[in-house]
Amino acid sequence: ATPTAVMVATGKGASQGVLIKGGSALEKAHKVKAIVFDKTGTLTVGKPSVVHSMLFSSSSLQEVCDLAAAAEANSEHPISKAVVEYAKKLNSKYDSINDRVMDAKDFKVHPGAGVSAIVCGKTVLVGNKRLMLASNVLISREVEKYVTETENVARTCVLVALDGEISGALAVSDPLKPEAGRVVSFLASMGITSIMITGDNQATATAIAQEVGINTVFAETDPVGKAEKIKDLQGKGLTVAMVGDGINDSLALAAADVGMAIGAGTDVAIEAADIVLMKSNLEDVVTAIDLSLKTLSRIR
Ligand code: ADP
Ligand code: MG
Repeated sequence: ATPTAVMVATGKGASQGVLIKGGSALEKAHKVKAIVFDKTGTLTVGKPSVVHSMLFSSSSLQEVCDLAAAAEANSEHPISKAVVEYAKKLNSKYDSINDRVMDAKDFKVHPGAGVSAIVCGKTVLVGNKRLMLASNVLISREVEKYVTETENVARTCVLVALDGEISGALAVSDPLKPEAGRVVSFLASMGITSIMITGDNQATATAIAQEVGINTVFAETDPVGKAEKIKDLQGKGLTVAMVGDGINDSLALAAADVGMAIGAGTDVAIEAADIVLMKSNLEDVVTAIDLSLKTLSRIR
């Protein structure tokens, strides 16, 4: 495209809340054949909440949640916030300034797995099965059954272990963005395949993908793995776009032919992307491709 055409399209995009950084992304966007969407915060609203809970010990739900929340209080992860909110709802004694009723020591983040800390002399682990197995915590058949049931209905199961034993589980739900399904089917009508990528487990990811109409899912994928998946698709000769919001998406956003960041996402993702969707609305993925199509057809 001519510099003028790029300037016009960039201006038009900006007025619609689609920030295009440079002409190269604009020149490639109309050739995109596959779009890889991150799950949490991109296809979903990114504000998960605890919608169900189960006890697996004689501890009270309040006690399990207070200890879990104390461990999660130091983390910025959306699941952490959901656990803290839930504990607060159960317990009126919450200190509104510190967001906790107990202090945690030795707090650790286990990326893609959960958190751990010592609270009131107890070792508290909060996270997925992988975290529990890595710490030699036994998963009983009863717990296994709850995890499976939770994941099959598109929820993430957060396990809470106290001193090495599963004491409770929380089912966390993060609703799809209302426009997600519409955008995926519109892209399909344009001949563009939508793919989901996530650090979350296979069962939950597959259930959510089904709701939104996505057939290809890459689950339990870490940041490096996300970028590798993009390169695999490019290796098949496809022009690939990536849409993401998190720090864990930034390598994939940079690797893609067209990286699109959700405006409400982290600064790292926004910096790594070629295009920023300022309204955080997935319909603007189509807006960006349309702008590219129009810019390039005008000069032909
Ligand atoms: P995503 O790619 O969906 O943003 P992450 O890579 O951040 O997911 O996390 C993957 C999985 O690890 C989550 O679905 C959850 O099971 C577990 N997990 C990560 N962080 C936490 C946390 N702070 N508390 C509990 N579970 C967590
Ligand atoms: Mg995300």
